[in-house]
Parts: sequence; structure tokens; C-alpha cells
Amino acid sequence: MTKYIFVTGGVISGIGKGITTASLGRLLINRGFNVNVVKIDPYINVDAGVMNPFQHGEVFVTHDGAETDLDLGNYERFLGVDLNKHSNFTTGSVYKEVIEKERRGDYLGQTVQLIPHITDEIKRRIYQIGKDSDIDVVITEIGGTIGDFEMPPFVEAIREIAVEVGRENTLFLHVSLIYTLPNGESKSKPTQHSIRKLQEFGIQPDLLLCRTSQHLDDSIRRKIALLCGISEDFIIEGLDTKCVDEIPLNFEEQGMGHLVAKKLGLERRATLDAEWIAMVDKLKNPKHSTNIAIVGKYTTGSDAYISVQEAIKHGGIANEAEVLIEWIEAESLTEDTDLDRLFENIDGILVPGGFGDRGIEGMITAVKYAREKRTPYLGLCLGMQCLVIEYARHVAHMKGANSTEFDEKTPYPVIDLMLEQRAIEDKGATMRLGHYPCVLKENTKSYEAFQQPIILERHRHRYELNNDFRSRLEDAGLCFSGVSPDESLVEIAEVPDHPWMVGSQFHPEFQSKPLAPHPLFRDFIEAVLGYQHVRTESGEA
Ligand code: GLN
Repeated sequence: MTKYIFVTGGVISGIGKGITTASLGRLLINRGFNVNVVKIDPYINVDAGVMNPFQHGEVFVTHDGAETDLDLGNYERFLGVDLNKHSNFTTGSVYKEVIEKERRGDYLGQTVQLIPHITDEIKRRIYQIGKDSDIDVVITEIGGTIGDFEMPPFVEAIREIAVEVGRENTLFLHVSLIYTLPNGESKSKPTQHSIRKLQEFGIQPDLLLCRTSQHLDDSIRRKIALLCGISEDFIIEGLDTKCVDEIPLNFEEQGMGHLVAKKLGLERRATLDAEWIAMVDKLKNPKHSTNIAIVGKYTTGSDAYISVQEAIKHGGIANEAEVLIEWIEAESLTEDTDLDRLFENIDGILVPGGFGDRGIEGMITAVKYAREKRTPYLGLCLGMQCLVIEYARHVAHMKGANSTEFDEKTPYPVIDLMLEQRAIEDKGATMRLGHYPCVLKENTKSYEAFQQPIILERHRHRYELNNDFRSRLEDAGLCFSGVSPDESLVEIAEVPDHPWMVGSQFHPEFQSKPLAPHPLFRDFIEAVLGYQHVRTESGEA
């Protein structure tokens, strides 16, 4: 019998439901259960593909090419699994499907309504996740906050699931905020109200996760327990932490895994999550510390590059190093910038993915600096395209070389729209998305990193290296160390006579996991530490 856990949020958005969901999943996986996760986003967009990453955070890409909410990245990293296009759905996608069915005549004669047609479609999708290959537990996270206008159909659907599968096979986990006043007093009333809102919908939460900036005292626990009908030991503290990877361990310490397993009748002895504990230990006790610069369109404060940040952290774990990130707004880099000063304490430069021409010249300036100063460089998708443009302009003597995304009239369109993209007009879900194989050339940095001839990596782009310029760039010394199996697409470019300068057309960050750091990030950070060593030695000399 598949068990169903539902995660809802109260009081404010961005309260950490995703990390909570991922952490709980980790605790159950560690008990030997097969866990699958689904994220519901109540907005009308059909998927996250055309949403602004500055406002909404990174668009995560699954191996089968879905453009999803960034929480799927958290799930994949914590659970160590690969999710798919069924793992995230929105109000928009549910309505789209129901309306398409109505047009096809699937509901012939019926009045199509919110209940049961929309709620049935929501339930069908959640049940479908449970049916996939032997799943013991499905965890469903509902985005947004209880009480939001878009929420009722989803809350009704999960209430019905609890009736259908039995309350004993269902667990409701509510994540809410305990607000701390400036005088240090903790306030539970907003949380109480959000629970009452859930109760109005017919849902009694079993487990409460209280996000808080200070330890929960017993009186708060007692008050919530009494007024909201949750037993005291089912109230877990979610104390603010800088190290999200530590959260599953904190939850386990408070007995969350045991409580959930007991409530769902999933009795199985917990083993120590030794690998995870060792990873967190390395993370918290690094032997080295180094600084890298990310030169991108957006700077810190948003979740626009969350997988990149995580993958850098993983590269650090693999090298027992803490990697501090200096965010540089690409637009602020001009010809007049004193680059030596700007990059004075920087041991590596990374240009992440992006769209549109804002900041491109600044990124290319940073690439030039990295190439000339032999600073380790990693380019991700757009960052690979910048590497190629810079090389074309300054090494291969193609003055004014560019991507047609930024300059349609460039004399040297070294990056150009892919053939199959030319007739496409719709923006949603029409890029080259998801896993594609890439064949690696031996005796290159890329081969050295992966140690295998063929890799599968995730993509999200419309432009590519223009084959008309391939041999000219190669003659100038650029190495295309990864290509598609039919050799028609360049997937990796690297600069051979440089300590480590690699750009990939794919997004390696989406596959990096704390327990399995991505080879390119691992080797990039290794090179960064090597550079730091040389830089500080020569500085001391
Ligand atoms: N804008 C570029 C393209 O569409 C790069 C995309 C990206 O970095 N994800 O090809």
C-alpha cells in the first residue's frame, strides 16, 4: 500500500517547504523505502519555463526535458534520484489538460466543474506518481501558502485522497513560521491561524514543522498542541541554518523519521545515514578556502543560479574546500574596469547560463581576463558561448564575432540559432531540452574529468556553435572536446594551453549531487585551488 505525505505551508512563502520535503524524503530513503516526490505549483503558467528567474528562481531541467520549479533540484540532490516531467505540475497544466479533454469530448454530456473534474485530474496525477515502479511513499508538496486564492482545489484534492486511501496511510505535514518579535518574544498566532485555515478545509495536520530563528520553548509547543490539536512531540523545530544539508540530520535528531514511519505504519529500523553525515562533516570542516567569481546577469539575493551554487559547493566537498562566491554583475564590467583589482582575490571565474544581451560584453571581458591570466574558468551554456565568442574575437582574429542572439548582423556569427529552432515561434517548452549524449575526445580536460567516452547531460538552449566556423576556431587552437554522437553539435569547448578553461553547452549543475559531485565542478575547483596555491606562493615571494 502506497503511503501519501502532503506538505503545506503557512504564514509566508519561501519558508523552506522544499528543503523540508527533500529532507523528510532523505530520512525515509535512509530507512530503505522507495520514495517519490511531486511538487504542485498553484500558478497559472503551464510550467516554469518562461518565468523570470530573478523573481521566481532558477528553472530546473529534468533529464526528460521538463522545465520545472527549482525545488525539484533540492529533491534530486537530497534524494539522489532523477525526477521527471510528472514530478511538477501547475494549475495551468491541470486546466489545460481538462479543457483539452472537454474539447475532445471525453466528458460528453457532463457539466465540467472545479469539483470533481479539476480535483480528479489533480488526484490522478498524484496517484500516478505512486503507481510508478514500487513506490512506498509519495511526498506531495503544495507550493504557496494555505489561504492563497489558488489553493482550494489542491487542498480539496489531498483531503479526498486521505479519505480514499485511508487516514492511516496519509500524513499531513504543515510547515509554518514562528515569528520572533524584536524583543525576542516568539509568536505562534500566525501559525495557529494557518492551521485553522487548513482545518476549515477538513484537514488536520499530523506533524508541524516550525520555522524559527530561536529555539522553541515548551510553552509555545504546549500552546500550539492544545489549540491546534497536534501532539507536542509531533511539533518539530526548524531552526534557521546556513547549511541546508544539515537539515535532514537535525530532523532525524528530533525523531522526525521515526514519528513519520510510526504514523504511517512503516516500521523499519533507521540506519545511520553515514554517507550524508560524512558529507556534512566535510562541508562544515573544510581544509581549504578559496574565492571564485560568478559573472552573470543576476547577482546574489535571488535563487536564479541555485543549482550552480550547489554544484560549486559539491565541487568544494570533493576537494575538502569551502568555496566562497563573489557575485559580479556582468553589466558593471566595462573596458574601464580595473580587472586586476576586481579579481585580486579571485581564484576562478564562472559564467553561468542566461538569455538576452544584457551584460554579455561584461561576461566576454571576464572570459578574456581568465584566458589571458590563466585563471581557471568554467562556462555553463551561455558561459560556453561567451568562451567561443571571446576566442574568436581575440585569438582567431574574427573582429566583431558574436552570437546572433545578441547581434544579428555580426560578421562572424560563431554562435547561431540551431536549425530546428528556426521555424519555432512559441516560447514555452520549445528549446533543446533535457538529456542528450555527448562523445568526449581523449586527452582533454573533459575526458580527464569524466573518465569515460560518452556522457549524458541536460540541456536548455536555442543557440549553438556555428559549424561554418568550427575548423577556423580549431585551427586557431580551440578544442571541441565534446560533440554529439553524429558530430553535428559541439557540446564542450576548451582552451588547451590553459590550466583549466572549459565551457559546456549543457548544464552540468543540474546533475551534481552532494554525494556525487559533478566531475566538471570537481575538477574546476581542483584547478581553482591549484591556481590559488600558485597565486599566493608568488605573492609571498
Ligand atoms: N541564450 C543561450 C541559448 O539559448 C544560452 C542558454 C542558456 O545559457 N541556458 O542558446
